[in-house]
Amino acid sequence: MKNASPDTILTHAGNDPQANFGIVNPPVYHASTVLFPTVAALEEAGHSFDGVRYGRIGTPTSQAFEATVARLEGGFKAVTAPSGLAAISTALLAFVSAGDHILVTDSVYGPTRLFCSDMLKRLGVEAEFYDPLAGAGIERLIRPNTRVVFLESPGSLTFEVQDVPAIAAAAKKAGAIVMIDNTWGTPLFFKPFDHGVDLSIHAATKYMVGHSDAMLGVITAGTEEVWNRLKRNAVQLGTCAGPDDVYLGLRGLRTMGARLRQHQDTALALARWLQARPEVARVLHPALPDDPGHALWKRDFTGACGLFAIELKPCSAAAVASFLDGMELFGMGYSWGGYESLILPIHPEKLRTATRWRTDGPMVRLHAGLEDPDDLIADLERGLARLAAAA
Ligand SMILES: *Cc1c(COP(=O)(O)O)cnc(C)c1O
Repeated sequence: MKNASPDTILTHAGNDPQANFGIVNPPVYHASTVLFPTVAALEEAGHSFDGVRYGRIGTPTSQAFEATVARLEGGFKAVTAPSGLAAISTALLAFVSAGDHILVTDSVYGPTRLFCSDMLKRLGVEAEFYDPLAGAGIERLIRPNTRVVFLESPGSLTFEVQDVPAIAAAAKKAGAIVMIDNTWGTPLFFKPFDHGVDLSIHAATKYMVGHSDAMLGVITAGTEEVWNRLKRNAVQLGTCAGPDDVYLGLRGLRTMGARLRQHQDTALALARWLQARPEVARVLHPALPDDPGHALWKRDFTGACGLFAIELKPCSAAAVASFLDGMELFGMGYSWGGYESLILPIHPEKLRTATRWRTDGPMVRLHAGLEDPDDLIADLERGLARLAAAA
């Protein structure tokens, strides 16, 4: 397993059949109390964050999931959280104090923005949003008290690809911690620790769980020092996830490589088909050669997931509704990364504060599921015909 490739790690990491009657998958440990045979053993367990001493601190189930994710990302160790957003808030709270300043990309996931601009503000931390395309120019925004630079690349609504190495280098020079929401990139398509990141965060709810049936988050630390601080604070916050949900995350990882290849192929097929449609003004997908983020994506990523967006030509809200309301295969709802296709109207222009998001027509976000791409295209074709008829 020493030089195993990602697909091999996904298939085998975290499993130890011989320790479990030869059963392929690890058992789900439902645990609060962990018993110690002697005072000496109890005292030896002390306050260690490794090992198993209390359910909240970690179980063989959460440790198997964390070891697999950390191995895939090339980090030191990981911490499991009950949702993607809890992973983000745990990571941020672990590294900021009152009086600190943090820089957060203007393309960040909406609930992350709210956590920064509301809760962190109440705790005396100033969050400043920056242009996701700032690159090395972020240097001008860094202050003596800048503790964290937070990235999300590409942004999950607007798909702007950030120059992660340039931003990370400027942050590091100033002694700030670099965190990235790597949910879109997944541990397979973007390797954060090769690009100067200190902490990589995932909404495991998306592709890791992969079946739209559990909430889960995970944070990987690049080094032992960063992990110690992260884990100590996660323990103080009581951050832990239910064992069945962690198991679903571990089970989802086993097929994530195969699923992602199909999500990627189908999303690209849909994106190319949509590019040629007269109702569509542009397709926002960094793997398309004419996307503004394509050069950076090609330099830093090894693949693309199933999530992208389109900007429609200017049309009425009623026309958009007749497009979306009648979809048969694309469901309308939040989240993504499950096996099924999703479609959603989005309004990134309402979220921005540091930059202006320019759009002439309405925007729609799509998640390409595992259905047959031709069936999905037929569903979109009927939808766009409804839109054209209503316009
Ligand atoms: C969904 C999502 C999250 C939050 O994950 P939850 O598990 O829903 O809390 C964070 N970041 C991105 C980019 C997401 O898409």
